[in-house]
Amino acid sequence: MKLPIADAATTRAYTVALLRKHRRPLAVMVVLQTVAAVAGLAGPWVLGRLVDAVAAGTDARYVDTMIAVGVVAVLAQTVLTRYGQRLSMVFGELVFAELREEFIERVTSLPLSTVERAGTGDLVARTTNDVNKLQHAVRFGVPRVIVAVVQITLTVVASVLLSPAVAVAMFVGVPVLLLVLRWYLRRATAAYLRESASYAVLNGTITESVEGARTADALSLGERRYGRVKDDLAEAFAAERATLNLRTVLFPGIDLTFVLAPVAVLLWGGWLATQGQVSLGVVTTLVMYSYQLTGPVWELIFWVDEIQVAATSLARIVGVQLVEPDRQAAAGEAHGRPPRDERVEARSLRYAYREGHDVLHGIDLDLAPGERLAVVGPSGAGKSTLGRMLAGIHPPTGGTVTVGGVPLVDLPLDELRGHVALVTQEHHVFVGTVADNLLLARPEADDSELERALRAVDAWDWVSALPEGLRTEVGSGGAALTPAQAQQVALARLVLLDPRTLVLDEATSLLDPRAARHLERSLSAVLEGRTVVAIAHRLHTAHDADRVAVVDDGRITEIGPHDELVAAGGDYAALWRSWQHDA
Ligand code: ADP
Repeated sequence: MKLPIADAATTRAYTVALLRKHRRPLAVMVVLQTVAAVAGLAGPWVLGRLVDAVAAGTDARYVDTMIAVGVVAVLAQTVLTRYGQRLSMVFGELVFAELREEFIERVTSLPLSTVERAGTGDLVARTTNDVNKLQHAVRFGVPRVIVAVVQITLTVVASVLLSPAVAVAMFVGVPVLLLVLRWYLRRATAAYLRESASYAVLNGTITESVEGARTADALSLGERRYGRVKDDLAEAFAAERATLNLRTVLFPGIDLTFVLAPVAVLLWGGWLATQGQVSLGVVTTLVMYSYQLTGPVWELIFWVDEIQVAATSLARIVGVQLVEPDRQAAAGEAHGRPPRDERVEARSLRYAYREGHDVLHGIDLDLAPGERLAVVGPSGAGKSTLGRMLAGIHPPTGGTVTVGGVPLVDLPLDELRGHVALVTQEHHVFVGTVADNLLLARPEADDSELERALRAVDAWDWVSALPEGLRTEVGSGGAALTPAQAQQVALARLVLLDPRTLVLDEATSLLDPRAARHLERSLSAVLEGRTVVAIAHRLHTAHDADRVAVVDDGRITEIGPHDELVAAGGDYAALWRSWQHDA
């Protein structure tokens, strides 16, 4: 179950929509480039006029004027090109930034179930490799292609306007160019793939040989490793030669067509001039135009190739947007009624990670506001799954979970988090200061609130002992937090978020038992009045709770206050006895 990849039509529609959205800057760019290109066409035209004028006999004043016109045109072209380039670059950056933001937003709101099913590798590849490939094309390619297309079009149009008869000669190189390109493109992909694969193998062999040097030595594998490296090198050499061969045809081939055009214009136009069909000046101008074409044509060839690569990446990036949302927040007054209270209710709750394999088999559960419920049971019983349902992480596949009568999955995400939130044993320390890590939950919180939250999870002592306290950089590259400390930070975030209902899925599992119990007690003090569902593998949590629910094989088998369950002598009582015995 991979993430979807957009098909060609969707990718094209997306691109068109993107360009349409940026119509105005695009139009300004095209206009600027057009004016610049026209100014660029003035030079050869002036020269042609001069040739004709001199041939017919003229005075120095005319020559001076024409040269002045030429100089002004060159200056104008320089200035216009500068601004045009700048605008294009800024445009490329803007569009790319927008794409990236949109993508990140999409990725961070992907349904968890989809990410879990597809695995993170695919997603990571798309956020790194594909975004990188796309960025080059969007930031540099698109602006350059626009410039090249404008220049080519205008030059061809100007040539045809000046003399269609001579202009035809400009195109003699085109069939040769197409043949060469076709020959190259047919072979290029396979050859370059082979080249990169051969280097990957070579890298692998060398890295393995170096890392396993002792083993290779101990087993006298030196000769064999040496042989492998030699073989891999030979393959890399052959692959490199193959692509070099391709290039030794491509580059001279393209160069040939580039020379062909001006030569053909010169010969054909020269002959027409001797017949009195065109003036020498026009031929001069067209020869120069055909020279001027080589730059943009070359650029176009280069970028079309790159843009093709980028298009496959774009298809993978757009594909991420095709993932169906797993919830549809009911919006507007018409649908969205606010929860009437904080009572969380599960009715006939079922969930299947894989179709047909229910993990929860119809659970009914009422949580009274302010109650503490401990959930215990053997591993694999479905406790975490129940926790995720109660926190609205996944929509149930059967039955409902409601808060104040409203299904959790009908609430917009940020509103949902005000009602219920989940902390699991998986936690992440974000790069930034300790304060940054906490402010994610409530950006407007001040230092005293942060301190209070940290005290509530017994973390204030070590945070205030850090070199810069709350302002200490943590996460990758900063001060390393122990897993237990990271867990405390996650809990402090929850305290700041202050939802009415908290689901703690073994949220203190990484602390030692005594610290965990102390933390849970101080946490209780600040969470006064909040509903807490604690999935616990340590039974003291259950002992301290108002009620205990025993989950087994996707069902609640016992539920009630600790003392009652112990007195009833069922599974929980047995569990409690053996735990006490061990403890
Ligand atoms: P507990 O928290 O009680 O250990 P879980 O809710 O984690 O139980 O798991 C209940 C069942 O669901 C187990 O059989 C487990 O293998 C299965 N399960 C849990 N997570 C997933 C998942 N992401 N994909 C498929 N099956 C899962």
